[in-house]
Amino acid sequence: MSRLDLVISGGTVVGPGWVAETDIGVSGEKIVHVGSLASASAEKIVDARGKIVIPGGIDPHTHYELYFMGAKPKETWDIGTIASAIGGTTTTIDFAPQEKGESLLAATKKQMARAGQLSVIDFTTKPIISDFSDMGRVMRGMKETMEYGVPGFKVFMIYRHQGWMADDWILFQVMRRAKELGGIVTIHAENGFIGEGMQEEFVRDGKVEPRYHGQAKPNLVENLAIQMAVNIAEITGARTYIVHQSTREGHEIVAQYRLRGLPVFVETCPHYLVLTDETFDPPERGIYYMCSPPLRKKEDIEALWSGLIVGKIQTVGSDHVAFTKSQKEEFAGVFTKIPNGFPGSEVRVPIIFYEGVIRRGMSLARFVDVVSTNAAKIFGLYPRKGVIAPGSDADLVLIDPNREHSLNAENLHMGTDLSVYEGMSIKGWPSMTILRGRIIVENEQFLGKPGIGKFVKAQIDEQILHSAR
Ligand SMILES: [Zn+2]
Repeated sequence: MSRLDLVISGGTVVGPGWVAETDIGVSGEKIVHVGSLASASAEKIVDARGKIVIPGGIDPHTHYELYFMGAKPKETWDIGTIASAIGGTTTTIDFAPQEKGESLLAATKKQMARAGQLSVIDFTTKPIISDFSDMGRVMRGMKETMEYGVPGFKVFMIYRHQGWMADDWILFQVMRRAKELGGIVTIHAENGFIGEGMQEEFVRDGKVEPRYHGQAKPNLVENLAIQMAVNIAEITGARTYIVHQSTREGHEIVAQYRLRGLPVFVETCPHYLVLTDETFDPPERGIYYMCSPPLRKKEDIEALWSGLIVGKIQTVGSDHVAFTKSQKEEFAGVFTKIPNGFPGSEVRVPIIFYEGVIRRGMSLARFVDVVSTNAAKIFGLYPRKGVIAPGSDADLVLIDPNREHSLNAENLHMGTDLSVYEGMSIKGWPSMTILRGRIIVENEQFLGKPGIGKFVKAQIDEQILHSAR
């Protein structure tokens, strides 16, 4: 065996298809051995007894430094990804917004350069296709971006006023092109005409409190868009991924298509698995809970958990945007003006561990699938990322299942004073995070430096993709 730099000893290791108390040997940036290493010597040995050892979390949905609805988070890539690492995530798949007139490749490279300067975890992106003025240019841009190593794209079916909404024909063309190129289209599925139409009606009638955000975009507004998206997926054959799915019905619609073997996938978010629309009142508090799709009912929460556990939902993304309280307050008067989104990258893995594994009996294998492995398989990072196996990057997280942790903003590390989980506390928290063989977090202390994260080129493999369940 080659010389070992690091041994993770005696932890409960969640491997591909097995869970066992064993050791992991690391040489350089790679895992080189999984199994007993009783007699091996190494530069450093980490005693992982009593800890659960998982492949580093992969967050398929973050928005670091996103300028949106007139607000830009104060949190920079370094602060945001340090918090992600503390919370057990070692790779993020962010979004690169396309400015009008900018090529997709330029948008992608610009954002990856910024991440390269500051990110402390590995990263890739999905360009947001939002300039539809020249579709020939979009088609060329998709090819260039894929050649650069980014196979995922994002389109919105809503946000007409921002000029981001892709209509059915645009969606069709993008998906047909993705099929041709072997990419994947990720879709924000809400029907923009009805959802934003109803928002305008409420505002016109003076109904401006946060609760009307939920009423303007009931479950059917999302379900309708999902139905449209999967139908176009079937016509075009495109690999399709529904982001932040929030309703009890949405993943059931997609499941019918998955049963027929179509490459369609569903992501949900921690907030849809924990919070309800009761947070909208009183309005002074409700302003902090504006996100799209809106928070739903208890029945939706339990249906989403069941979907996650049985395999109708494949991934959990944070949809992290680190707006601060004052950025929400600044636009408080009318619910349609309040910047949508809130922080969550740090708490994604711990919330799924506590609410899923501890409270709902989710298996450790399934937990790892939804916080890491499936995102790697779907977005072309597997088996370099998302699995504990020889040859894979030594991205490892040790979870202490007994460590209690408050979810108050003051006890978290994201670059904001807002926590939508204020007052809650959970059990189970990462005690160590390792990125490519290097210990970057120990007991919530960050040990690395900005810029140690690397851009990971991705390519989707058909067989691996279909193994994401
Ligand atoms: Zn998002």
